[in-house]
Amino acid sequence: MRPFDYVEPRSVDEAVALLSRGGERTRLLAGGTDLIPRLRRRQWRIDRLIGLRRIDGLRDLTLEDGVLAIGAGVTLEELAASTTVSDVCPLLAEAARLMASPQVRALATIGGNLCHASPAADLAPPLLCLNATLRAIGPSGGRDIPIGEFFTGPGRSALRDGELLVQVRVPAVEGRGVYLKFSPRRAMDLAVVGVACFRSHGVATVAVGAAAPTPLRVPASPDEAAARCSPIDDLRASAEYRREMVRVLTRRALEIVP
Ligand SMILES: Cc1cc2nc3c(=O)[nH]c(=O)nc-3n(C[C@H](O)[C@H](O)[C@H](O)COP(=O)(O)OP(=O)(O)OC[C@H]3O[C@@H](n4cnc5c(N)ncnc54)[C@H](O)[C@@H]3O)c2cc1C
Repeated sequence: MRPFDYVEPRSVDEAVALLSRGGERTRLLAGGTDLIPRLRRRQWRIDRLIGLRRIDGLRDLTLEDGVLAIGAGVTLEELAASTTVSDVCPLLAEAARLMASPQVRALATIGGNLCHASPAADLAPPLLCLNATLRAIGPSGGRDIPIGEFFTGPGRSALRDGELLVQVRVPAVEGRGVYLKFSPRRAMDLAVVGVACFRSHGVATVAVGAAAPTPLRVPASPDEAAARCSPIDDLRASAEYRREMVRVLTRRALEIVP
């Protein structure tokens, strides 16, 4: 790894100022589970890392006026273990428990999972089903981004230059959900396909991961869901296999939450 500066701001405003001044060779560091391997592989060259762990409030997790407000720095382990998350959004807690390993979950954050914007990000399909809103703060102030507009391509998000994600807001809606993750190994593996389904007042919402350039909502019908996807062939699976898995997992998810 090339040498670089490391700074730890104490507030969101300080982080935004550092990020805006820094240019494209300045990056934010949350848990580092995506970022550090990329730096080691020399995939990205950076001059400065801005560590987020000392910023007040980024690790808060509260239920306010029927909205679960999750700080971007809340770790996957905290999501999986929180009784508030399990009570209000069990679907999200379930997805977090299926991710990575205890060691990675202890570091990795919800903000890093979403901002890395991998098509296979496991928290994305549940949050798409739950209609989450992502709160970003940048040089021109704060704004809320509906999660359906957040992912713009593989590794790309709607965050603008100088913006950071500060909170994920999930409305506490009555209903039942399930996340089905298919991967060859039970742990430490990305989804070959992931399907989340949430049914509230008789209406089912389905979202998929690893089956298109971005995680996305699809129709709550196995055949239509498969048709809406545009998966790729890679080392992990063929596009045809992924499309078939979307069909199978969507059917299964709709049966589990009838
Ligand atoms: C062994 C292993 C297993 C894994 N298994 C899974 C898995 O099962 N499922 C899965 O989905 N992922 C998995 N991952 C990927 C990774 O762990 C997750 O995506 C994790 O949630 C990333 O979070 P982080 O806090 O470590 O992000 P970081 O690596 O710190 O950051 C990732 C990216 O997001 C940006 N970023 C971070 N926080 C913010 C913010 N608040 N605002 C703006 N930008 C921000 C960073 O600048 C960087 O570009 C795995 C990784 C490893 C190494």
